[in-house]
Amino acid sequence: SIKKYFPLENNSLFKKNSRFVKAVDGVSFVVKKGETLGIVGESGCGKSTMGRTILQLQTPTEGEVLFEGEDISKFNRKRLREIRKDIQIIFQDPFGSLNQRMTVGAMLSEIIHVHKIVPKNEVLKYVQKLLEDVGLNKEHYWRYPHEFSGGQRQRISIARALAVKPKLIICDEAVSALDVSVQAQVLNLLKKLKYKYNLTYIFISHDLSVVKHISDRVGVMYLGKVVELANKKAMYQDPKHPYTQALFSSIPDVTSVNKKERIILKGDVPSPLNIPKGCRFHTRCPAAENICREKEPDFRKIANEHYVSCHLV
Ligand code: SF4
Ligand code: MG
Repeated sequence: SIKKYFPLENNSLFKKNSRFVKAVDGVSFVVKKGETLGIVGESGCGKSTMGRTILQLQTPTEGEVLFEGEDISKFNRKRLREIRKDIQIIFQDPFGSLNQRMTVGAMLSEIIHVHKIVPKNEVLKYVQKLLEDVGLNKEHYWRYPHEFSGGQRQRISIARALAVKPKLIICDEAVSALDVSVQAQVLNLLKKLKYKYNLTYIFISHDLSVVKHISDRVGVMYLGKVVELANKKAMYQDPKHPYTQALFSSIPDVTSVNKKERIILKGDVPSPLNIPKGCRFHTRCPAAENICREKEPDFRKIANEHYVSCHLV
Protein backbone atom coordinates (compact mmCIF):
# COMPACT_ATOMS: atom_id res chain seq x y z
CA SER A 1 0.00 0.00 0.00
CA ILE A 2 1.46 3.32 -0.99
CA LYS A 3 0.12 6.76 -0.38
CA LYS A 4 2.68 9.31 -1.24
CA TYR A 5 3.45 12.89 -1.99
CA PHE A 6 6.61 13.30 -3.97
CA PRO A 7 8.88 16.10 -4.82
CA LEU A 8 9.16 15.93 -8.60
CA GLU A 9 12.10 13.89 -9.86
CA ASN A 10 13.31 17.03 -11.59
CA ASN A 11 14.68 18.89 -8.60
CA SER A 12 15.13 22.25 -10.29
CA LEU A 13 11.47 22.43 -11.08
CA PHE A 14 10.70 21.36 -7.56
CA LYS A 15 12.85 24.13 -6.08
CA LYS A 16 11.72 26.83 -8.45
CA ASN A 17 8.13 26.30 -7.61
CA SER A 18 8.86 25.24 -4.05
CA ARG A 19 5.86 23.02 -3.88
CA PHE A 20 5.26 19.33 -3.97
CA VAL A 21 4.18 17.36 -6.95
CA LYS A 22 2.10 14.30 -6.37
CA ALA A 23 3.77 11.99 -8.88
CA VAL A 24 2.04 9.08 -7.14
CA ASP A 25 -0.91 9.83 -4.94
CA GLY A 26 -3.11 7.57 -2.90
CA VAL A 27 -2.13 4.42 -4.73
CA SER A 28 -2.98 1.29 -2.81
CA PHE A 29 -2.82 -2.30 -3.97
CA VAL A 30 -1.61 -5.74 -3.05
CA VAL A 31 0.72 -7.93 -5.06
CA LYS A 32 0.15 -11.60 -4.45
CA LYS A 33 2.98 -14.05 -4.17
CA GLY A 34 3.62 -15.77 -7.48
CA GLU A 35 1.60 -13.42 -9.66
CA THR A 36 2.56 -10.91 -12.30
CA LEU A 37 0.90 -7.58 -11.72
CA GLY A 38 1.05 -5.40 -14.80
CA ILE A 39 0.99 -1.62 -14.40
CA VAL A 40 0.13 0.36 -17.51
CA GLY A 41 -0.26 4.03 -18.29
CA GLU A 42 1.09 6.75 -20.51
CA SER A 43 4.52 8.23 -19.85
CA GLY A 44 4.56 10.55 -16.87
CA CYS A 45 1.61 8.85 -15.12
CA GLY A 46 3.79 7.84 -12.17
CA LYS A 47 4.39 4.16 -12.95
CA SER A 48 8.17 4.35 -12.60
CA THR A 49 7.99 6.53 -9.51
CA MET A 50 5.76 3.93 -7.97
CA GLY A 51 8.21 1.15 -8.81
CA ARG A 52 11.10 3.14 -7.40
CA THR A 53 9.14 3.85 -4.24
CA ILE A 54 8.46 0.18 -3.60
CA LEU A 55 12.22 -0.32 -3.75
CA GLN A 56 12.77 2.74 -1.57
CA LEU A 57 14.99 4.27 -4.24
CA GLN A 58 12.68 7.20 -3.81
CA THR A 59 11.58 8.11 -0.32
CA PRO A 60 7.87 8.56 0.19
CA THR A 61 6.62 11.34 2.41
CA GLU A 62 3.57 9.44 3.52
CA GLY A 63 2.17 5.93 3.59
CA GLU A 64 3.70 2.52 3.79
CA VAL A 65 5.17 -0.24 1.65
CA LEU A 66 4.62 -3.61 3.24
CA PHE A 67 6.80 -6.49 2.14
CA GLU A 68 5.90 -9.82 3.72
CA GLY A 69 4.09 -7.87 6.42
CA GLU A 70 6.88 -5.43 7.30
CA ASP A 71 6.86 -1.73 6.46
CA ILE A 72 10.10 -1.35 4.54
CA SER A 73 9.71 2.42 4.31
CA LYS A 74 10.65 2.48 8.00
CA PHE A 75 13.76 0.32 7.54
CA ASN A 76 17.21 1.67 8.36
CA ARG A 77 19.98 1.47 5.80
CA LYS A 78 21.29 -1.88 6.89
CA ARG A 79 17.89 -3.58 6.72
CA LEU A 80 17.17 -1.84 3.43
CA ARG A 81 20.33 -3.31 1.96
CA GLU A 82 19.15 -6.75 3.05
CA ILE A 83 15.66 -6.27 1.63
CA ARG A 84 17.11 -5.10 -1.69
CA LYS A 85 18.25 -8.65 -2.18
CA ASP A 86 14.62 -9.75 -2.03
CA ILE A 87 13.36 -7.01 -4.33
CA GLN A 88 15.21 -6.44 -7.58
CA ILE A 89 14.52 -4.09 -10.47
CA ILE A 90 15.20 -4.41 -14.18
CA PHE A 91 15.26 -1.24 -16.26
CA GLN A 92 14.72 -0.49 -19.92
CA ASP A 93 18.34 0.27 -20.72
CA PRO A 94 20.67 -2.43 -19.43
CA PHE A 95 23.65 -0.81 -21.12
CA GLY A 96 23.61 2.16 -18.79
CA SER A 97 23.45 -0.01 -15.70
CA LEU A 98 26.09 -2.59 -16.65
CA ASN A 99 29.73 -1.95 -15.80
CA GLN A 100 31.43 -1.66 -19.20
CA ARG A 101 34.89 -2.52 -17.89
CA MET A 102 33.99 -5.83 -16.31
CA THR A 103 33.33 -9.11 -18.00
CA VAL A 104 29.85 -10.44 -17.40
CA GLY A 105 31.29 -13.27 -15.33
CA ALA A 106 33.30 -10.92 -13.11
CA MET A 107 30.31 -8.65 -12.60
CA LEU A 108 28.00 -11.50 -11.59
CA SER A 109 30.68 -13.12 -9.42
CA GLU A 110 31.21 -9.88 -7.54
CA ILE A 111 27.50 -9.52 -6.73
CA ILE A 112 27.30 -13.13 -5.57
CA HIS A 113 30.44 -12.70 -3.49
CA VAL A 114 29.34 -9.43 -1.86
CA HIS A 115 25.95 -10.85 -0.92
CA LYS A 116 27.45 -14.22 0.11
CA ILE A 117 24.95 -16.13 -2.00
CA VAL A 118 27.08 -19.28 -2.35
CA PRO A 119 30.47 -20.34 -0.92
CA LYS A 120 33.52 -18.97 -2.76
CA ASN A 121 34.41 -22.22 -4.48
CA GLU A 122 30.92 -22.54 -5.94
CA VAL A 123 30.66 -19.04 -7.44
CA LEU A 124 31.94 -19.97 -10.91
CA LYS A 125 29.52 -22.86 -11.23
CA TYR A 126 26.67 -20.72 -9.96
CA VAL A 127 27.39 -17.96 -12.49
CA GLN A 128 27.57 -20.44 -15.34
CA LYS A 129 24.23 -21.88 -14.32
CA LEU A 130 22.73 -18.38 -14.18
CA LEU A 131 23.99 -17.63 -17.68
CA GLU A 132 22.44 -20.83 -18.96
CA ASP A 133 19.16 -20.12 -17.17
CA VAL A 134 18.80 -16.80 -18.99
CA GLY A 135 19.61 -18.34 -22.37
CA LEU A 136 23.29 -17.38 -22.61
CA ASN A 137 26.18 -19.83 -22.41
CA LYS A 138 29.29 -20.50 -20.36
CA GLU A 139 31.58 -18.76 -22.87
CA HIS A 140 29.70 -15.52 -22.34
CA TYR A 141 31.31 -15.41 -18.91
CA TRP A 142 34.44 -13.88 -20.46
CA ARG A 143 32.75 -11.25 -22.60
CA TYR A 144 32.17 -7.54 -21.99
CA PRO A 145 28.74 -5.86 -22.19
CA HIS A 146 29.52 -4.13 -25.50
CA GLU A 147 30.01 -7.51 -27.15
CA PHE A 148 26.35 -8.37 -26.68
CA SER A 149 23.17 -7.47 -28.54
CA GLY A 150 20.38 -5.51 -26.83
CA GLY A 151 18.39 -8.65 -26.11
CA GLN A 152 21.44 -10.43 -24.70
CA ARG A 153 22.25 -7.46 -22.51
CA GLN A 154 18.74 -7.58 -21.11
CA ARG A 155 19.32 -11.27 -20.39
CA ILE A 156 22.46 -10.24 -18.49
CA SER A 157 20.51 -7.79 -16.38
CA ILE A 158 17.96 -10.50 -15.68
CA ALA A 159 20.81 -12.78 -14.59
CA ARG A 160 22.11 -10.00 -12.37
CA ALA A 161 18.69 -9.60 -10.76
CA LEU A 162 18.37 -13.37 -10.29
CA ALA A 163 21.88 -13.74 -8.88
CA VAL A 164 20.83 -12.63 -5.39
CA LYS A 165 17.81 -14.97 -5.29
CA PRO A 166 15.09 -12.31 -5.13
CA LYS A 167 11.43 -12.89 -4.34
CA LEU A 168 10.02 -9.90 -6.21
CA ILE A 169 11.30 -8.39 -9.44
CA ILE A 170 10.07 -5.03 -10.66
CA CYS A 171 10.41 -4.80 -14.43
CA ASP A 172 10.27 -1.16 -15.52
CA GLU A 173 9.85 -1.03 -19.31
CA ALA A 174 12.15 -4.05 -19.32
CA VAL A 175 11.50 -4.99 -22.95
CA SER A 176 10.50 -1.60 -24.34
CA ALA A 177 13.82 -0.90 -26.06
CA LEU A 178 13.90 -4.27 -27.86
CA ASP A 179 12.68 -5.29 -31.30
CA VAL A 180 9.29 -7.00 -31.26
CA SER A 181 10.67 -10.48 -31.97
CA VAL A 182 13.30 -10.11 -29.25
CA GLN A 183 10.64 -8.74 -26.89
CA ALA A 184 8.67 -11.95 -27.20
CA GLN A 185 11.76 -14.04 -26.43
CA VAL A 186 12.60 -12.03 -23.32
CA LEU A 187 8.98 -12.07 -22.12
CA ASN A 188 8.84 -15.84 -22.52
CA LEU A 189 12.12 -16.11 -20.65
CA LEU A 190 10.71 -14.02 -17.79
CA LYS A 191 7.66 -16.26 -17.67
CA LYS A 192 9.76 -19.39 -17.56
CA LEU A 193 12.03 -18.00 -14.85
CA LYS A 194 9.05 -17.00 -12.74
CA TYR A 195 8.08 -20.63 -12.28
CA LYS A 196 11.61 -21.95 -12.03
CA TYR A 197 12.68 -19.42 -9.38
CA ASN A 198 9.33 -18.94 -7.64
CA LEU A 199 9.20 -15.24 -8.47
CA THR A 200 6.63 -12.49 -8.28
CA TYR A 201 6.70 -9.67 -10.82
CA ILE A 202 5.48 -6.13 -11.00
CA PHE A 203 5.61 -5.43 -14.69
CA ILE A 204 5.52 -1.72 -15.54
CA SER A 205 5.05 -0.75 -19.18
CA HIS A 206 3.35 1.71 -21.49
CA ASP A 207 2.89 -1.15 -23.96
CA LEU A 208 -0.55 -2.74 -23.57
CA SER A 209 0.22 -5.82 -25.69
CA VAL A 210 3.35 -6.59 -23.72
CA VAL A 211 1.48 -6.26 -20.43
CA LYS A 212 -1.30 -8.48 -21.76
CA HIS A 213 1.21 -11.15 -22.69
CA ILE A 214 2.76 -11.44 -19.26
CA SER A 215 0.31 -10.29 -16.57
CA ASP A 216 -2.21 -12.06 -14.36
CA ARG A 217 -3.74 -8.82 -13.10
CA VAL A 218 -3.43 -5.32 -14.47
CA GLY A 219 -3.57 -1.86 -12.91
CA VAL A 220 -4.10 1.25 -15.01
CA MET A 221 -2.54 4.51 -13.85
CA TYR A 222 -3.56 8.03 -14.75
CA LEU A 223 -1.85 11.11 -13.37
CA GLY A 224 -0.40 9.42 -10.31
CA LYS A 225 -3.34 7.23 -9.40
CA VAL A 226 -4.41 3.68 -10.16
CA VAL A 227 -7.86 4.25 -11.67
CA GLU A 228 -8.70 0.61 -12.43
CA LEU A 229 -7.40 -2.74 -11.25
CA ALA A 230 -8.67 -6.10 -12.45
CA ASN A 231 -7.82 -9.55 -13.70
CA LYS A 232 -6.28 -9.42 -17.13
CA LYS A 233 -9.31 -10.90 -18.85
CA ALA A 234 -11.78 -8.45 -17.33
CA MET A 235 -9.45 -5.56 -17.95
CA TYR A 236 -8.84 -6.29 -21.62
CA GLN A 237 -12.31 -7.51 -22.52
CA ASP A 238 -14.54 -5.30 -20.46
CA PRO A 239 -12.75 -2.28 -18.98
CA LYS A 240 -15.02 -0.06 -16.89
CA HIS A 241 -13.17 3.20 -16.36
CA PRO A 242 -13.58 5.71 -19.22
CA TYR A 243 -9.82 6.25 -19.32
CA THR A 244 -9.10 2.52 -19.56
CA GLN A 245 -11.74 2.19 -22.26
CA ALA A 246 -10.08 4.90 -24.31
CA LEU A 247 -6.56 3.61 -23.70
CA PHE A 248 -7.45 0.03 -24.59
CA SER A 249 -9.50 1.01 -27.64
CA SER A 250 -6.19 1.75 -29.32
CA ILE A 251 -5.08 -1.90 -29.30
CA PRO A 252 -5.56 -3.46 -32.70
CA ASP A 253 -7.52 -6.64 -32.05
CA VAL A 254 -8.30 -8.70 -35.13
CA THR A 255 -9.88 -11.53 -33.19
CA SER A 256 -12.44 -9.42 -31.36
CA VAL A 257 -16.00 -10.27 -32.38
CA ASN A 258 -17.57 -6.97 -31.50
CA LYS A 259 -14.91 -4.68 -32.87
CA LYS A 260 -14.76 -1.63 -30.67
CA GLU A 261 -14.52 1.89 -31.97
CA ARG A 262 -11.31 3.71 -31.21
CA ILE A 263 -11.90 6.40 -28.59
CA ILE A 264 -9.77 9.49 -29.08
CA LEU A 265 -9.35 11.58 -25.96
CA LYS A 266 -9.39 15.33 -26.20
CA GLY A 267 -6.55 17.42 -24.78
CA ASP A 268 -3.31 16.41 -23.10
CA VAL A 269 -2.62 14.87 -19.73
CA PRO A 270 -2.66 17.81 -17.28
CA SER A 271 0.58 18.74 -15.51
CA PRO A 272 1.19 16.98 -12.19
CA LEU A 273 1.71 20.52 -10.85
CA ASN A 274 -1.87 21.27 -11.63
CA ILE A 275 -4.00 18.22 -10.96
CA PRO A 276 -7.67 18.82 -11.76
CA LYS A 277 -10.07 19.02 -8.82
CA GLY A 278 -12.59 16.23 -8.35
CA CYS A 279 -11.92 13.33 -10.67
CA ARG A 280 -8.51 14.05 -12.16
CA PHE A 281 -9.63 12.63 -15.47
CA HIS A 282 -12.63 14.94 -15.84
CA THR A 283 -10.88 17.40 -18.20
CA ARG A 284 -10.63 14.66 -20.81
CA CYS A 285 -13.42 12.28 -19.92
CA PRO A 286 -16.15 11.83 -22.54
CA ALA A 287 -18.63 10.85 -19.80
CA ALA A 288 -17.92 13.59 -17.25
CA GLU A 289 -20.82 15.04 -15.28
CA ASN A 290 -21.06 17.84 -12.71
CA ILE A 291 -20.18 15.64 -9.75
CA CYS A 292 -16.91 14.69 -11.48
CA ARG A 293 -15.64 18.27 -11.30
CA GLU A 294 -16.45 18.50 -7.58
CA LYS A 295 -15.80 15.21 -5.89
CA GLU A 296 -12.94 12.78 -6.21
CA PRO A 297 -14.30 9.27 -6.81
CA ASP A 298 -13.32 6.49 -4.40
CA PHE A 299 -11.45 3.43 -5.59
CA ARG A 300 -14.34 1.01 -5.24
CA LYS A 301 -14.73 -2.72 -5.60
CA ILE A 302 -17.31 -3.39 -8.31
CA ALA A 303 -16.81 -7.12 -8.77
CA ASN A 304 -14.54 -9.85 -7.53
CA GLU A 305 -10.98 -8.53 -7.90
CA HIS A 306 -12.21 -5.56 -9.93
CA TYR A 307 -11.69 -2.03 -8.63
CA VAL A 308 -12.58 1.23 -10.35
CA SER A 309 -12.33 4.88 -9.47
CA CYS A 310 -15.28 6.50 -11.26
CA HIS A 311 -18.57 8.01 -10.07
CA LEU A 312 -20.57 6.57 -12.92
CA VAL A 313 -19.44 2.94 -12.78
FE1 SF4 B 1 -15.20 10.39 -16.10
FE2 SF4 B 1 -16.55 11.28 -13.99
FE3 SF4 B 1 -15.83 8.76 -14.09
FE4 SF4 B 1 -14.02 10.66 -13.73
S1 SF4 B 1 -15.66 10.10 -12.32
S2 SF4 B 1 -13.85 8.92 -15.08
S3 SF4 B 1 -14.82 12.27 -15.01
S4 SF4 B 1 -17.25 9.77 -15.46
MG1 MG C 1 8.77 5.28 -16.75
